[in-house]
Amino acid sequence: MAKVMIIGAGGVSNVVVHKCAQNADVFEEILLASRTKSKCDAIKESVKNTKSKITTAQVNADNTEELVKLINEFKPELVINVALPYQDLTIMDACLETGVHYLDTANYEPPEVPKFEYKWQWAYKEKFEKAGLTAVLGSGFDPGVTGVFCAYAQKHYFDEIDYIDILDANGGDHGYPFATNFNPEINIREITANGRYYKNGEWLETQPLEFKREFTFDQIGEKDMYLLYHEELESLSKNIEGVKQIRFWMTFSQNYINHLTVLQNVGMTSIEPINFEGKMIQPLQFLKAVLPDPASLGPRTKGKTNIGCIIRGRKDGQEKKYYVYNVCDHQEAYSEVGSQAISYTTGVPAMIGAMMILKGLWKKPGVYNVEEFDPDPFMDELNKQGLPWQVDFSPVIPE
Ligand code: NDP
Repeated sequence: MAKVMIIGAGGVSNVVVHKCAQNADVFEEILLASRTKSKCDAIKESVKNTKSKITTAQVNADNTEELVKLINEFKPELVINVALPYQDLTIMDACLETGVHYLDTANYEPPEVPKFEYKWQWAYKEKFEKAGLTAVLGSGFDPGVTGVFCAYAQKHYFDEIDYIDILDANGGDHGYPFATNFNPEINIREITANGRYYKNGEWLETQPLEFKREFTFDQIGEKDMYLLYHEELESLSKNIEGVKQIRFWMTFSQNYINHLTVLQNVGMTSIEPINFEGKMIQPLQFLKAVLPDPASLGPRTKGKTNIGCIIRGRKDGQEKKYYVYNVCDHQEAYSEVGSQAISYTTGVPAMIGAMMILKGLWKKPGVYNVEEFDPDPFMDELNKQGLPWQVDFSPVIPE
């Protein structure tokens, strides 16, 4: 039984709070703190029938001193960071200062340069080791479950892993001409950046959305998917020993790409500040303000997501293929916790990662990515907590 502090009150936080509250034997007390306290209160109100004690607070997570004060008042064992990637370092600093474990779902990003690199957070390894504290990075779905899937394959099915393809399909339809399923700023930054993948010890770059493949996803059907850079490629290329190639694919409809192309062509996806009537604004942040709030998509979204890893390599001298994936239904997720599948598939693994730390199963001083821990108890919890996984031993390979 433990006390946790959850920072951020968006779509993912809503799921984390609901799932922690469903596991009140582990998460006895929850402090939900974010920039806008009314959003914390609304999440708290929406949680019914729980034995967890939930309180709320206002905090600016860009400010380490404010965080330290709040952490010292509440004295949690762990901070779950589901604010934005910009707050990762200030929150890690506050955890170090107060002696509290740390977990997040997205790597630190400086606001002015979209980088998707772990170097800033990995640099905290020694500090966490010395403090005897555990920091778990990227415990969402991708990064997160995808890393655990790879660790599980390595532990049980392969002597050597050669190739990993991570496939992320969203077959959901929200009925709007254009909207992003999670924070639009982060989503658009990811898609408009050059593609990149790992091959034979090198990083190969592509133009944005240059590589396209068709793939038939279980329970969704045929979709176009595009090669993107995604942050788990960096940690998996280090942590899956001997891997030759890792690629990440995400599905987008032609309609989504058409809208994005126009927005890009007119400069609306830029993060370069511009002077608008005497005020400096970032076009991408302005765009975020006019797009539908991802949280509002929940009740409207129908269909499923399918995210998983196709892994190829060898076991006992034999060539092996292994595809492990989860299918999540937007409407089922919404009826359970009031958020669609994108937030659900991120929030459930964040809760499970937190549970792993609190139960002592994933506790080791330092800063780690999820694939560096024992995958078995995490995989068991996925099946129990709403994200069951399936396996195909003869998948089609996206050549
Ligand atoms: P939202 O934008 O819906 O929510 C972010 C929340 O953080 C908001 O409540 C916001 O406050 C709060 N926040 C922002 N800045 C601060 C600050 N300075 N101090 C305190 N609170 C702050 O995002 P999501 O819920 O969709 O995503 C949350 C995280 O999950 C992001 O880091 C995202 O990158 C990550 N993610 C990871 C995925 C994975 O699979 N690994 C997939 C999807 C998302 P306010 O309400 O005032 O704006």
